[in-house]
Amino acid sequence: MTSYRDLLQQVKSEIAEVDARRAQELIGSDSTAIVDVREQEEWDEGHLPGAVHVPRGHLESRIESAVPDRSRSVVVYCASGNRSAFAAKTLEELGYDDVVSLAGGFTDWKRNGLPYEIPRALDADKRRRYSRHLLIPEVGEAGQTKLLDSRMLLIGAGGLGSPASLYLAAAGVGTLGIVDDDAVDETNLQRQIVHSTERLGESKADSAKRTIEALNPDVTVKVFKERLTSENVDRILGEGWDVIVDGADNFPTRYLLNDASIWHDIPVVHGSIYRFEGQTTVFKPKEGPCYRCLFPQPPPPELAPSCAEGGVLGVLPGIVGSLQANEALKLALGIGEPLVGRLLLFDALETQFTEIALRRDPECPVCGENPTITEYVDYVEFCAGRPAQVTS
Ligand SMILES: [Zn+2]
Repeated sequence: MTSYRDLLQQVKSEIAEVDARRAQELIGSDSTAIVDVREQEEWDEGHLPGAVHVPRGHLESRIESAVPDRSRSVVVYCASGNRSAFAAKTLEELGYDDVVSLAGGFTDWKRNGLPYEIPRALDADKRRRYSRHLLIPEVGEAGQTKLLDSRMLLIGAGGLGSPASLYLAAAGVGTLGIVDDDAVDETNLQRQIVHSTERLGESKADSAKRTIEALNPDVTVKVFKERLTSENVDRILGEGWDVIVDGADNFPTRYLLNDASIWHDIPVVHGSIYRFEGQTTVFKPKEGPCYRCLFPQPPPPELAPSCAEGGVLGVLPGIVGSLQANEALKLALGIGEPLVGRLLLFDALETQFTEIALRRDPECPVCGENPTITEYVDYVEFCAGRPAQVTS
């Protein structure tokens, strides 16, 4: 029979250990992953800056998503260096070829006066509500806290804004702003699932707010019952937003929002739909193209698409709006590859996705090197007698 001490000694002889100072040097390079294998309560009391939390009991099942690259160097630690020694051994067996265990663990790290972070812990209710997020290492408690602190602005509570707002609210985005001056109409209900029959005639912004608050009381909803114009755009965007989800499908708003988002430096998750076709992309100032890089000016009114009510398959905005919510969550969490410089097209009839690369234009009149547009342009309404509202 091997005793625990014998086993520990044997494992320690088979892995590499570093002291706190050496660990700090290793961690100084961004290429090193830091894995904390302690229990939740220990993590909550403080952890190394930049560490990912993968409790020892879940190490085998969760390490691949926490540290997908097996050639990456890994510093693993626990409280005293024993559990992490076993964890280091396990990681080597899983094919991680550059793993060291922090001898003396977190206790020794603190004793050396090295920096650590105390996470803002979620209460028990939030832990339960967001448990499926907490189980994903890329989100986890730190990510969920980020979401609860995040602020997202939805332009439109229509077809795209409905699913986007519902999923963002369910995900625990702490503050949702909704800009919509329209009222719920019977023809909306075929796709605008944030509203309902009993809300007919009610303001869409108010109706969405009621649905969202019933879904998740953690979310604060700020309504703007107005249409985005050059007069109010600075006031509304100036309230400070991490991400804007664009669900408005008319040229004046699209250009206005584009210019404003560049000047306010806020990424916009764009979406649009028509019949069976949808598209989405992310316009992230400075990092990718903006709408004007692609279309510097709106088409002349005689070439603009007809403003007669466009038909749309009811589920299509559900798909595109959900893709927008996905992009918005990724941007807020700082994970994955957002659709910056990539236009994703969806064909509902063929059930096909296509991707088109988009490039930033150095000559762009707004985000280019020598901008020629430096103040808001109010484009004429394209449709005589009624606002240029296409199906959204
Ligand atoms: Zn541009």
